[in-house]
Amino acid sequence: MTEVQRLGIVVVGASLAGLRGAEALRDRGYDGPLTLVGDEPHQPYDRPPLSKHVLAGELPPEATVLPQLSRLRARWRLGQPAVALNRERRVLHRADGATLPYAKLLITTGARARTWPGEGADLAGIFTIRTLEDARALWSALACRPNRVIIVGGGLIGCEAASCCRDLGLAVTLVDPNPTPLARLLGTTIGATLAERMRGAGVDFRPKTKVRAFSGEAGQVRRAHLAGGEVLETDLVIVALGATRDTGWLAAAGLAADAGGLTCDGACRAISIAGEPDPDIYAAGDVARWPNPLYGDRPMTVEHWGNAVDQARHAAANMLASASDQIPYRHLPSFWSSQFGLNIKLAGSTEGADALAVVQGTRASQRFLAVYGRAGRTVAALSFDQARWLPAYAEAVAAGASFPPILGATDQPRIEALEPGLPGPRRSPDRGAAALETAHA
Ligand SMILES: Cc1cc2nc3c(=O)[nH]c(=O)nc-3n(C[C@H](O)[C@H](O)[C@H](O)COP(=O)(O)OP(=O)(O)OC[C@H]3O[C@@H](n4cnc5c(N)ncnc54)[C@H](O)[C@@H]3O)c2cc1C
Repeated sequence: MTEVQRLGIVVVGASLAGLRGAEALRDRGYDGPLTLVGDEPHQPYDRPPLSKHVLAGELPPEATVLPQLSRLRARWRLGQPAVALNRERRVLHRADGATLPYAKLLITTGARARTWPGEGADLAGIFTIRTLEDARALWSALACRPNRVIIVGGGLIGCEAASCCRDLGLAVTLVDPNPTPLARLLGTTIGATLAERMRGAGVDFRPKTKVRAFSGEAGQVRRAHLAGGEVLETDLVIVALGATRDTGWLAAAGLAADAGGLTCDGACRAISIAGEPDPDIYAAGDVARWPNPLYGDRPMTVEHWGNAVDQARHAAANMLASASDQIPYRHLPSFWSSQFGLNIKLAGSTEGADALAVVQGTRASQRFLAVYGRAGRTVAALSFDQARWLPAYAEAVAAGASFPPILGATDQPRIEALEPGLPGPRRSPDRGAAALETAHA
């Protein structure tokens, strides 16, 4: 009996990547012990609806449970987090004192919502959106018809929440330090189109503005104090400031992990602080930072649904393969978002883009397909309610086509060339090194 057959495979983090990774192990013929460890008490559920259909009241939170696509025959250890990892003894420690031996480990602990870091953090009425409990609590609070909702952060989740709150007929102010919503993800040129749409839907969008503090009465939030001195009355706040990767429990494991992710090699094997891949520990999903061959092996974390699924399946395949058969994980990031009646889809990464062209439709009509370029190559394709040709442009992105790609589409009469308005490559304070990053936050 091999070590893997005897001690089995443990998956830490029982959500999208954990579930799809475990299924892939079974689908590929692994029939030994399989354990899923999760700190949430629930079976894996889907997060994207939490800031969309659940918030809009169209879907009960319970209906987000993820379907199981294969017979798992797994032991579920839910409701207790893993708190430490001893790689030498090959043991995982849980918060309740239990230990779990493993032969191989798949780490899929994802990320946690950043909470309000400033004054007023302990007031009631301040919410984040990451978990089922978050969504339930927020939905109940919205059902009480707050006078004004303040949303801090104009990223994807902040914008989606603003859209849902307007659909519920609530007054909404969205505060963001950038000139437009989604500025870091799509640039200020496309962001300006979204700002127009958002304002048209009745959102009081406050660009280039920061919330300094919240204050309240009897423990309930009542006011937002803006950096410029203005005070806004509010009784419900949604903090949408992104997420930090859940790696704290790995602090003493000797792995290269920080709040920006767990560093892996191209095959998704976790890298030790000595710089060596651990042959028995893999990572996937939001938590994993890996060199993506599609982007010149630059380290990348991707906080989108499609990556969690693809990377988990890829890592599972490598877990069962021999050391000489490890295959690097190549991934074209992509996401979708629905907000203000728009269906937005992006394929590729806009990081560091220096050119933008609208190749179909027009920004004025708010229905268009645009491509981003970087150093003469097409690096991302974006559709605003115009997804028909997106797969073709996504192929051009994956192939590193020159910018702009000419695909000979019949409805491509004129290309509108624009400045994308994106910041240069980001530097993370957690990592020091420049890292490509794309986030659903
Ligand atoms: C509100 C919201 C809306 C989104 N919308 C979209 C969208 O429209 N399109 C899109 O592409 N993506 C979207 N995303 C992103 C997508 O949901 C994530 O990329 C995906 O959930 C990542 O899956 P994961 O399994 O890697 O991590 P997670 O889903 O974060 O799961 C990690 C799991 O591990 C658990 N865990 C953490 N630490 C421990 C520990 N120490 N021990 C045990 N368990 C632990 C966590 O509690 C969690 O259950 C959205 C995300 C959110 C939050």
